[in-house]
Amino acid sequence: MKRIFSSLFIVAVLFVMVGFASNVNASTTTPKLFMDGKQIVSDVDPIIKQGTTLVPLAVLSSGLGYEVKWDNKAKQVTVLDQELTIKLAIGEKVGYVNDDSYELSQPPSLVKNRTMVPIRFVSEVLGLKVEWKQQTSEVLLTSPVKEPEPSPTPSPVQDATVSQVHLGEDGNLHIAYTGVLTEPKTMLLPASDTAPTRLVVDLNNTGYTYELANSFIKGQTEVTLNGYKDLSGYRFSQFSSNPLTARVVVLLNEQANYALVHSEGELIISFNGMITETPEPSDTPPATEEPLPGDNPSTPPSTTPDQTEDTKPIYHIVLDAGHGDSDPGAVNKTLGLREKDFNLSAVLKVKAELEKHPQIAVHLTRSDDTFLELSERVAFAEKLPGIGKKADLFISFHANSYKTSNINGTETYYTRENSKKLANTLHPYILGAVGLNDRGVRTASFKVIRETTMPAVLLEVGYLSNASDAKVLFNNDVQTKFAQELTKGIKKYLELE
Ligand SMILES: [Zn+2]
Repeated sequence: MKRIFSSLFIVAVLFVMVGFASNVNASTTTPKLFMDGKQIVSDVDPIIKQGTTLVPLAVLSSGLGYEVKWDNKAKQVTVLDQELTIKLAIGEKVGYVNDDSYELSQPPSLVKNRTMVPIRFVSEVLGLKVEWKQQTSEVLLTSPVKEPEPSPTPSPVQDATVSQVHLGEDGNLHIAYTGVLTEPKTMLLPASDTAPTRLVVDLNNTGYTYELANSFIKGQTEVTLNGYKDLSGYRFSQFSSNPLTARVVVLLNEQANYALVHSEGELIISFNGMITETPEPSDTPPATEEPLPGDNPSTPPSTTPDQTEDTKPIYHIVLDAGHGDSDPGAVNKTLGLREKDFNLSAVLKVKAELEKHPQIAVHLTRSDDTFLELSERVAFAEKLPGIGKKADLFISFHANSYKTSNINGTETYYTRENSKKLANTLHPYILGAVGLNDRGVRTASFKVIRETTMPAVLLEVGYLSNASDAKVLFNNDVQTKFAQELTKGIKKYLELE
């Protein structure tokens, strides 16, 4: 906003000043100064000099709240207000407003060693309304009418923070939170042609931890489950930011029985704790809400393999052992186990197993205890050294960790839709090999599987922070079985014998 001073304005100021000047009789009275109805008291009284009221400079700063500078050498006063600069000098009848000169009815003057400034001129330039009440000798100043501020939208209330949404070993869905959870609102949506029955649970005034919210892809985390009687998966998102609403959607199987149980720090969607089947490598793809491109089992893998001499294609697979060297990844201090060692050991075993197949070529991002940046791992897969083209598949190996030891199990992650089928194919094989709790096929935005372009998955085979998981992960026989089963899964995905 810019104020424009027209010559009309100056005329108006002068006209009012003339009005003041005519009031000669009031010169003996001490004027009182009011700002928005409140009297401004100063140690030196305002004076009227030939009809012009002069007030101590301090009134402008401490009384009216303007920024005021006093240059003692030049005997000059500067009053600042947003885009406005008013310059007045002692004894000078010309004042300046943003370098435009104005004639003053009375120059500022020194009275009892105080700088006295003409209040009407300054006030009007600053946009204050000025009234002079002759009978009572009062100067009434009124603040400029400000444009109404847009009424601020009230910031959302956050009473609870979700820290975990996971399927427990009891087969129930646990929503762990901190804070105070308001009564959840639930909706049961019937199955349609494209979607199964869905249980929608809305938690009002509820957000997610930074870590959870940060791992959302397109605003949510999706978990696909296989082999459960009552549910085929779940997803969770920040459904609304104001009011703050966390939404958990459970994909229910037909005739699922469930109950909402609220316990200390956890909302549990209980399925009577029933797990009827152990997850097994399955020939049927998991039920998805909508058929997705590349998700049809009859579609051959979206790869551009090399051809061998007898025209059989060669598939280039990158196995990426997470972390390395000074970056140990997750650490179980009690057991003295480091994630980077599991990752490397698992990768070497999988490589040996995969290479038994003549159509598979394995490429390791690291084959010893060295460290690569995530971007280097992506670059490696996008342009294979010595091959010069991108890999057909990318698999990153990890073990997980959580701040509490009660979280355990196997998770398979993908980020891009073209990786979903790979994740869904491999996950049951991994579960079958390691036998840990099924935490599902999940979406999350991890750099190595986000920024690569071929089908890519990240395996969190188990939780190092859980002692039982940790022992399983570092068991040599389990690792061998894991390598064999994962190889079967990869061959199934590639439709290899
Ligand atoms: Zn890791």
